Amino acid sequence: DIVLSLGDICKSYNRGKPNAVEVLRGVDLSVQAGELVALVAPSGAGKSTLLHIAGLLDTADTGTVTLAGEDIAKQSERRRTALRRRDVGFIYQFHHLLPEFSAAENIVLPQLANGVPDQGAGTRAAHLLDLVGLSHRSAHRPAELSGGEQQRVAFCRALANDPKILLADEPTGNLDPSTSDQVFDALMTLVRDGRLAGVIATHNLELAARMDRIVRLEEGRLIEVTAP
Ligand code: ADP
Ligand code: ADP
Repeated sequence: DIVLSLGDICKSYNRGKPNAVEVLRGVDLSVQAGELVALVAPSGAGKSTLLHIAGLLDTADTGTVTLAGEDIAKQSERRRTALRRRDVGFIYQFHHLLPEFSAAENIVLPQLANGVPDQGAGTRAAHLLDLVGLSHRSAHRPAELSGGEQQRVAFCRALANDPKILLADEPTGNLDPSTSDQVFDALMTLVRDGRLAGVIATHNLELAARMDRIVRLEEGRLIEVTAP
């Protein structure tokens, strides 16, 4: 059951200008439900570009993106936005939680925006917070949480609407190593619980080694580093 498939993706910035950069030069990647792929790449190699194309936030110059069985190039802009909201969960290095709302409310709000009734949204928020060991922090605002706790809440928020794929850009990048380990465990629990597909960009090779597969972005192409 392939959730995301990228075929021969090419992407340049400032094409035809003196400052043109060819970032992706024929990237292929398939991710199955329940599979967690580590994306490792030196800074500037095009990790964010790749994740944004995979998550329908940006478009490739050429190549195909298939998400949850739909060929993205054939969809309208409106349909792409709907697919992104329904099927993709994003996690960034910095959590971007809403400071005036509690942890639980930060997880409830995206569900309400998606038409989930109050009660169901609250129940799901409580379930997700429980999975990452933060039930006792549900009424706290972000400023009252540690960095690691904030990031765990951000994971729950990304999964609030039960997406099919999780895309994460250095999700533990600004945490100290011991917090980072703990927070990564929470991420794994959420992914396994939801049988999610995931592409997790990380510089941390120990964390990468705990995923199902490692791919490396090098000179615009994806190279398989290990097979299970
Ligand atoms: P990474 O996430 O691996 O650090 P990015 O995907 O952010 O890499 O960027 C890859 C390359 O593309 C970098 O050289 C960066 O400077 C360039 N780049 C990224 N976004 C733009 C943009 N909007 N316009 C021009 N160049 C860009
Ligand atoms: P830890 O105990 O995990 O080291 P801290 O409480 O020291 O966590 O906070 C970690 C980081 O999160 C700090 O850089 C802090 O400035 C930042 N931070 C704290 N509250 C917020 C907030 N509401 N929004 C954004 N960043 C915050």
